[in-house]
Amino acid sequence: MTCIEAQSLITSYVNDELNISELEDFLEHVNSCPSCREELGVYYALLTAMKQLDEDRNLSADYNQELEDKLHRSQERIVHVKYVYYRKKGILIFLFILLAAFFGLKDYTARIEDNPVKESTFRLRVTYNKARFEELTDGLELYLNSHMQEESREAQ
Ligand SMILES: [Zn+2]
Repeated sequence: MTCIEAQSLITSYVNDELNISELEDFLEHVNSCPSCREELGVYYALLTAMKQLDEDRNLSADYNQELEDKLHRSQERIVHVKYVYYRKKGILIFLFILLAAFFGLKDYTARIEDNPVKESTFRLRVTYNKARFEELTDGLELYLNSHMQEESREAQ
């Protein structure tokens, strides 16, 4: 993010209007660019004071400290969102492994119990389960793909 981009987002940041990827880029920039960080400090004090006057509230004693706290909370929000995303992804991967193990076991059981007498009923049950779980796997795959697309869209 350039200085101009970062400075154009200051008002939105103060008003909590940035989406998560804008927020992440914005924080990264102001944490590494002293002049934008200073600009943010000035605008934060100005915008907050105006809002407080508007609402007939007392002015804050320390805008710098308030901004520090706000930046800290924003950083925590990003960590939280990322944690939730990777945890969801982890659960999906775990489900895939479970499904794979399930099918592996089914195939194995089908092979060792390939008894001509029970063959017809057993085959039927396997086919039924496979159809049912394949649908589920497709659903999971769609879900994972849409999440990845969301992620790459946000990254742009
Ligand atoms: Zn800058």
